[in-house]
Amino acid sequence: MVSAENTDNAEVCHVKGCNAPAERSINYKKISETDLQLKSDSNRQVHLCKDHYREFKKQTKTSRGLDRIY
Ligand SMILES: [Zn+2]
Repeated sequence: MVSAENTDNAEVCHVKGCNAPAERSINYKKISETDLQLKSDSNRQVHLCKDHYREFKKQTKTSRGLDRIY
């Protein structure tokens, strides 16, 4: 068995059911403001792949937009 430790800092996206390589790390608090479901909630820094980062940005933008409307 080969140790998986020497994968070149390849973090995997923390969103449930997603195994894409992570592109960004986000503060957990900010993730909890969105609908994104995580594999584990014990991380303070959450890694997101490109697609989920885009989803994250979309959702945080939406909530800010609602603040403006009301
Ligand atoms: Zn992902």
